[in-house]
Amino acid sequence: MEFRHQNLSPARATICVLIVLSLGVVLARAGAPASVDDPAKEAHGIAVANMDRSVQPGDDFYDYANGAWIKRTVIPPDRSRVGVFTALSDLTNKRMATLIEEAAKQKAPAGSDSRKIADLYNAYMDEAGIEAKGLAPLKPHLDAIAAIKDKHELAHALGETLRAGVDALNNTNFHTANLFGLWVAPGFNDSEHYAAYLLQGGIALPDREYYLSDAASMRDARTKYVAHVAAMLKLAGFTDTDARAKRIFDLEHAIAEKHISLAENDDIHKANNTWKQADFAAKAPGLDWAEYFRGADLGKQVEFTVWQPTAFTGESALVASESLETWKDWLAFHLIEDYADVLPKAVADEDFAFFGKTLFGTPQRRPRWQRGVAVVDRWLGDAVGKIYAERYFPPEAKAKAQEMVANITAAFRKRIEALPWMAPATKAEALEKLSTLYVGIGYPEHWHDYSAYEVKADDAFGNLGRGGLFEYHREVGRLGAQVDRKEWCMSPQTVNAVNLPLQNGLNFPAAILQPPFFDPKAPDAVNYGAIGTVIGHEISHTFDSEGSAFDSKGRVRNWWTPADLEHFNAATAKLAAQYDTYKPFPDLSINGKQTLAENIADVAGIAASYDGYRASLGGKPGPEQQGFTSDQQFFIAFAQDYGSKTRDAALRAQVMGDSHSPNRYRAATVRNIDAWYDAFKVKPGQKLYLAPQDRVRIW
Ligand SMILES: [Zn+2]
Repeated sequence: MEFRHQNLSPARATICVLIVLSLGVVLARAGAPASVDDPAKEAHGIAVANMDRSVQPGDDFYDYANGAWIKRTVIPPDRSRVGVFTALSDLTNKRMATLIEEAAKQKAPAGSDSRKIADLYNAYMDEAGIEAKGLAPLKPHLDAIAAIKDKHELAHALGETLRAGVDALNNTNFHTANLFGLWVAPGFNDSEHYAAYLLQGGIALPDREYYLSDAASMRDARTKYVAHVAAMLKLAGFTDTDARAKRIFDLEHAIAEKHISLAENDDIHKANNTWKQADFAAKAPGLDWAEYFRGADLGKQVEFTVWQPTAFTGESALVASESLETWKDWLAFHLIEDYADVLPKAVADEDFAFFGKTLFGTPQRRPRWQRGVAVVDRWLGDAVGKIYAERYFPPEAKAKAQEMVANITAAFRKRIEALPWMAPATKAEALEKLSTLYVGIGYPEHWHDYSAYEVKADDAFGNLGRGGLFEYHREVGRLGAQVDRKEWCMSPQTVNAVNLPLQNGLNFPAAILQPPFFDPKAPDAVNYGAIGTVIGHEISHTFDSEGSAFDSKGRVRNWWTPADLEHFNAATAKLAAQYDTYKPFPDLSINGKQTLAENIADVAGIAASYDGYRASLGGKPGPEQQGFTSDQQFFIAFAQDYGSKTRDAALRAQVMGDSHSPNRYRAATVRNIDAWYDAFKVKPGQKLYLAPQDRVRIW
């Protein structure tokens, strides 16, 4: 699971980045103007100017560490949120733009990666060309949908929309607006080979709660959504659009009722359902599955892991029970939505008006060049990432990061060895897991080959469609092949980090190994507090509620004794209850179960990184700097990872649809760490104070 969520959006698998960017929820690709808020400009250390020292750390540690920054920061109109590390994201974005520009200047031969980078970007930037084509690129696809004459052909067309845009365990993304989503990853029951996982889909809004919740804001979003569907259909030349929109909404509502919740999606054991292709007709009657799989080029795939069987049964039944015309309208609307950003401005504007403004509260769209950079990042991520890593990730940074990883891993090892509650056999497997953990730093060992991806200089629409298909076929082509445990799932230019449980591996991309997360010139206390806790967070996913389901070889195997599991569940239930008490809105609390794995990782990440830091000092006290003890610097640096401002609509979307708690509450988890109490003299009666027995200790 990743350190923070990047893909919280109602995006279609094929072009999700476009929509994500138009929503402005991709922290990693944020691009605010450089400002005085750039923490890297301060002395190498914590950002003292961001703190509000009128706040007692024991009352509100998040505001204490970030309050001044929050007070002086205005969310730019093209963002739904900004963070203290926005400057870092800006920098990465600008570097990407430079690399793309250089690629364009090279006039590289057709078919080369450089030429593809240039053509993909330039085609996207050619607004006049896109406008001149009008709806023409869409037309053959709409005609094909209109020509569907029965449910057999419908099944084929639905199969053709299947894409590899979901990801259940690495870059966790459970959302696809396609009927279903494919994820190719090491098998639950055969971790040596890639398997096909199928996930529920079919709704365009971010989560089933948008259809089912009684909250006033959700009822309002639904009303506006129906109007948006009608507007999009009208722009695409449909008649009778209000009635069609109503039927499309009703269908999505019915689909949402069949979906299982995000909290339930986390349970590996409920997800481990092997269905042979031949089983689908009996287990989920309705959809013509043979035709669906033929449409998806999966006719020969024998086995699938069906993540949410009840949703498959329910959605398949809806294919039979709902009218062909409604399904065709649903397909057409989703198609238009998919490509909105590369269709005429009127369509793109309507799309942003709903998904950007209404749903996430963002007044303005990102500048087009930033969206263009994101398109290149999305479809040619490794091609541009290879150049990025060569240029911007020096070997010294890699060496220093590796040293920190080694210290934090050693701290984790000690913690496991010392656990009083864990049985020796469980400990042995946990230690084995730790010793076989692959830690990727900076960039992958192998790069994707884009030779089969056709990019045309004058075809923004086609480039996106072919990008989605190219990626899909690459994934389908891996099915059954031997697993590469060192494979990455994030590009080097991503400001994030990830744990890949089925590979027993971690990725720390080059772009997060920069200030303010990581600064080789800053005191160790600050680096351990800022990036060390992220490293600890990712390592801990190896042993959390999901990691505990996989053994050292990435196999689904219960390697815990019942007593160990009981202790773990009791300790983590306490943490879930702690988070259930947080209320970002009067009518909306955090879901402690939905966010549990991430919250465990945060607590464990701080604990392990703190130990790693202490060990690196070899028993000596750390140096004071900027008027703070080394321990204070450690915790402030941690809380400053999370300094951010988010629009209310986006925050609601996060609380409902994300497995990460909002940043304020992530920072507050220091209340579970004894050393934090000592560092800031936190006393009973202060708001974050927990009596020692109420502090959650897991590792
Ligand atoms: Zn995580």
